[in-house]
Amino acid sequence: MQYRKFRADQLFTGHQLLGADQVLITNNEGRVDGVVPVPEAGDDVQVFPGLLSPGFINCHCHLELSHLKDVVPPHTGLIDFLCDVVTKRGFPQEVIQDRIEKADKEMYDKGIVAVGDISNTADTVRVKAKSRIRYYNFIEVLGFTDDKAEENIAAFNNVLKEYHKELPEKNSVLTPHAPYSISTKTFGLINESTDGRLISIHNQESPDEDELYKTGGGGFLRLFKQFGIDRSPFTVTGKSSLRSYLPHFNRKQTILLIHNTFIPEEDILFAKDYADKHGMNLFFTLCVRANLYIENRKPPVHLFLKHDCPMVLGTDSYSSNWELSIAKEIEAVMNMTCFDDLTAEDKICTVYKMATVNGAKALRMDDELGSFDKGKMPGIVNVVSSGIVRRVL
Ligand SMILES: [Zn+2]
Repeated sequence: MQYRKFRADQLFTGHQLLGADQVLITNNEGRVDGVVPVPEAGDDVQVFPGLLSPGFINCHCHLELSHLKDVVPPHTGLIDFLCDVVTKRGFPQEVIQDRIEKADKEMYDKGIVAVGDISNTADTVRVKAKSRIRYYNFIEVLGFTDDKAEENIAAFNNVLKEYHKELPEKNSVLTPHAPYSISTKTFGLINESTDGRLISIHNQESPDEDELYKTGGGGFLRLFKQFGIDRSPFTVTGKSSLRSYLPHFNRKQTILLIHNTFIPEEDILFAKDYADKHGMNLFFTLCVRANLYIENRKPPVHLFLKHDCPMVLGTDSYSSNWELSIAKEIEAVMNMTCFDDLTAEDKICTVYKMATVNGAKALRMDDELGSFDKGKMPGIVNVVSSGIVRRVL
């Protein structure tokens, strides 16, 4: 058996941070054999500057929007952003395919080994089928009104079938887009078809979302107009968005709550409690650079830390980010003041776990990915300096 050996100033295993006195050993194809002290490692150890980490997990992307790089301007707020995406996403198919292929390669080169990817169309199937990245595909349903709910679900089920033809069935699922685009009946149909599955939803990304449910007013009425809907099709519950829609799910799903930029503390407690009572799991998905791009605001990570919420990272798409780089997301999260009380080591461990082991668990790929545990093949990333990465394996 031939071995490969790797050492750096710091070695993050997925669980803990070790120093330059430890060596990671894999077999020739990159399957982890173990981590041993330098004197036991023998010869031919490759030495790297900076930190070595298991490959990164990007839990939220829209690969099919890669052609919108530099198309949608930053800092418009969510409503104008959405109006822009809706009106500007049409491009020639060859441009769309070219940008999808480039974005997939870019993510691979930047050390990303798995992606939770939102798809409204089958545009990305071809690239995903031959990609070296593992994809979990959220086939994202939009359905504003109850009267078209069944028709809509049927259309998105046809998209889902395209994924099933080329990719493992367990890695593609119907998923709701957002609380402001899914009617009550549509929520019900998605709930029924996702028993025990991993799904996602864009959550509380704008203050208008809570207003829509509390009063029936706010900025989303402008978005609805674009779809020919004159007034809010949603029932006014008098409650926040999260409290209004989460009870539509009761089939032991795991849900990635995406963004959470405007989630209040009492809703975090509500969501955790609801999930516990219904045998569900929640992962709070941070897309900090996308939040800065769209709303110029960061999510309340200090509250997720305070309440011990599992967190994972996402880049979101090229319509709302400058790069599809988890290393850049790590950098942005690390720069947040909520980590100031932690030691440098604890800070690295906390944030790198979001990017590796937590993400792998969320996407249900931790049998192979997310940590340097013996027998796994998680890929190896060298973080040369903050935000700068090289793929090793
Ligand atoms: Zn998104």
